[in-house]
Amino acid sequence: MIYLDNAATTYPKPQSVRRALANASMTAANPGRSGHRMSFAASEQIYRCRVKAAELFGAGSPENVCFTLNCTYAANAVIKGMLSSGDHVVISDMEHNAVVRPLHALSKQGVSYTVVTTSEDDEKTLSAFRDALRTNTKLVICTHVSNVWGIKLPVERIAAMCSQYGIPIMIDAAQSAGVFKINAQESGFDFVCMPGHKGLYGPMGTGLLIARRPELLSTTIEGGTGSASLSPEQPDFPPDKFESGTPNYPGIIGLSSGLDFVKSTTPARILAHEAQLTSMLYDRLAKNSRVTLYTPRPEKGRSGGVLSFNVGSYNSEKVAAYLNEKHGIAVRAGLHCAPLAHKHFGTLETGAVRVSPSYFTTQNEILSLARAIDRM
Ligand code: PMP
Repeated sequence: MIYLDNAATTYPKPQSVRRALANASMTAANPGRSGHRMSFAASEQIYRCRVKAAELFGAGSPENVCFTLNCTYAANAVIKGMLSSGDHVVISDMEHNAVVRPLHALSKQGVSYTVVTTSEDDEKTLSAFRDALRTNTKLVICTHVSNVWGIKLPVERIAAMCSQYGIPIMIDAAQSAGVFKINAQESGFDFVCMPGHKGLYGPMGTGLLIARRPELLSTTIEGGTGSASLSPEQPDFPPDKFESGTPNYPGIIGLSSGLDFVKSTTPARILAHEAQLTSMLYDRLAKNSRVTLYTPRPEKGRSGGVLSFNVGSYNSEKVAAYLNEKHGIAVRAGLHCAPLAHKHFGTLETGAVRVSPSYFTTQNEILSLARAIDRM
């Protein structure tokens, strides 16, 4: 199979990640729970992963790195941990349902939100965010890179504007972590949510919440942490505040190895590789008069490794089924859990065919896809 669905989860994982995951699932005791050597060793390994993530993402301290199941859990921890009736939130029109659905659920309890229309012109996007702020705006949420269109939003500038107004900001880095530089401290991101299983090349079932201002969040899950056990109160210090119950130890060890892979390969090289492939695909598809491309040609630094398009009047699901069945090519069609982003480009009815390479994708694989589209 030619796998071009890395925006859903990266495949293959690096050999080192596969090995680490397999070893960890055979050898570990429960970390942070018991006073024996095996438990200490597991805690130490988890802490190492926290240190690596804190360094890579400018978390400020390893304790600000909280492990979650995926990006969705991290986003819920922020949204539900922070907002209550009467609060207002500003979000972009590129948000995933990981953001929209928890907000919609809270809207039934008196939380309101405004969806800002983003633009190719960063200046316009920035002023649209500014114009949407209200006196009761408690949080701004912006995705870093659209999971449908690959468009990178000016999150650093939006964060600087938020900081002028004293409003916290949460970044959804689902498609950017491991690909674009993210430094929460330098950029003033209060919360960064990310999966471990995409651009960090870790296993599914892993995610990270970088919580630079954990004091702003209440907990959404409470339970055993292995610390302060006498008290019925959940510890109020991170990461224990947000990590109850036995962690996904094998997943975290796999993620730790994924972070090593990203660090040694470097996000800049990963981005350069993916950008080269999406630009190449864009140029190739642009020659096919039946293909509709919605965004400008992917430009280095302005887009991530995601490109979506449609073919003739075909529904995107039909195109994906054809690629899968006739050519063994895996892409994702439909709405990609991001209806707002499809509304923006008028593709709510057809969806779009999404191609997302990884560091392991080759030019030949991209050319095979383009040839298959030509033959439709
Ligand atoms: N946000 C965006 C922008 C995404 O692309 C995704 C995954 N498609 C998510 C959030 C949710 O990530 P996860 O599946 O890890 O919860």
